[in-house]
Amino acid sequence: MKEQGGQGARGGMLSCMATQSREIRLARRPQGEPGLDCFAFAEMDLPDPGPGEVLVRNLYMSVDPYMRGRMNEGKSYVPQFEIGKPLEGSAVGRVIASQDEKLPVGTLVLSMYGWREAYVAPGFGLRVIDSSLAPASAYLGILGVTGLTAWVGLFTIAKLKDGETVFISAGAGAVGSAACQFAKMHRCRVIASAGSEEKLAFLRNELKVDYAFNYRDGDAREHLAKAAPDGIHVYFDNTQGPQLEAALYALAPYGRVAMCGGIAGYNVPVPGPPNLIQMVGKRLRLEGFIVSDHFKELPAMLAEAVPALAAGKLVNRETFVNGLDAAPGAFLDLLRSGAGNIGKMVVKLGD
Ligand code: NDP
Repeated sequence: MKEQGGQGARGGMLSCMATQSREIRLARRPQGEPGLDCFAFAEMDLPDPGPGEVLVRNLYMSVDPYMRGRMNEGKSYVPQFEIGKPLEGSAVGRVIASQDEKLPVGTLVLSMYGWREAYVAPGFGLRVIDSSLAPASAYLGILGVTGLTAWVGLFTIAKLKDGETVFISAGAGAVGSAACQFAKMHRCRVIASAGSEEKLAFLRNELKVDYAFNYRDGDAREHLAKAAPDGIHVYFDNTQGPQLEAALYALAPYGRVAMCGGIAGYNVPVPGPPNLIQMVGKRLRLEGFIVSDHFKELPAMLAEAVPALAAGKLVNRETFVNGLDAAPGAFLDLLRSGAGNIGKMVVKLGD
């Protein structure tokens, strides 16, 4: 991008120097577990922002398990990534040049232009965020889609009530750790599973869950019977597979399952639980959901989460990796049982 001498938003000079960026593109569609060779890096000069546009440098980007599905061919609830085109995902960045008077230089914005260092885009599609309430990265996690997913799954889908017992798989991850904490804030008994001792220590010592177990070590059904002899009311399912099967046995009559995700089967499909018949005798309800259908519930979630975060009652745990080069590896780690992140996996791209 060439030096630009025009008048920017608020009448200030556009702060433009030649702007180079790098982005990550889909190189090939994976079969089973993806490898680093599924990703290709590209460099480019960005154009100057035109009328109504801004130039944004990303500070943080999100990697999320649902992106694995977007690497496949075929139709889904969200468009597939295209080979040779940049990947997409949520990101927080700072406006560094502006032709949109509503977004002056310095504004922090949330976008879907992740997997790249910088971008030029129309200002109207970007959401301004307020970093005085919480660190900017929190809008990719606990104060963003992650927190909302936990909230919607627990309260809208599973209709969790104060005092009930809930089991949350992948409990030390982004959605799981938010769900554990929202459930504790509602005085529920929380049972959570995770894949490493470090994650179990986080669940027990920082999130104060009532019972945490390693699903890779022993029988989940035995753990649930020990943790909740009278049964669980709700299962917040992040994994499907053997933990869903164990939960179906553990659910009390009229129990509910919020089917949030199924990470155990994202690379290679896992068979459905052989004990689905439990749903009949116990009158269970299992309901899937997609968080984007529930964005109108964001203010309700934030009304609870923001003060709790400010008061130190909500832990915003994040695992950071640095630089765009680290993004593919961070994404691949999400799909590995017992590896990677505690809390939200975030790629830091700048200050
Ligand atoms: P996480 O931060 O929880 O990261 C994924 C974690 O999954 C890993 O850290 C790992 O933890 C666990 N994992 C990986 N492989 C396996 C496996 N084979 N069996 C069991 N656990 C495994 O990711 P998110 O919080 O972002 O997502 C959690 C779930 O929520 C995913 O299924 C995702 O698709 C879903 N989701 C659904 C949304 C919706 O709208 N329905 C929106 C957002 C997320 P460990 O070490 O404990 O195994």
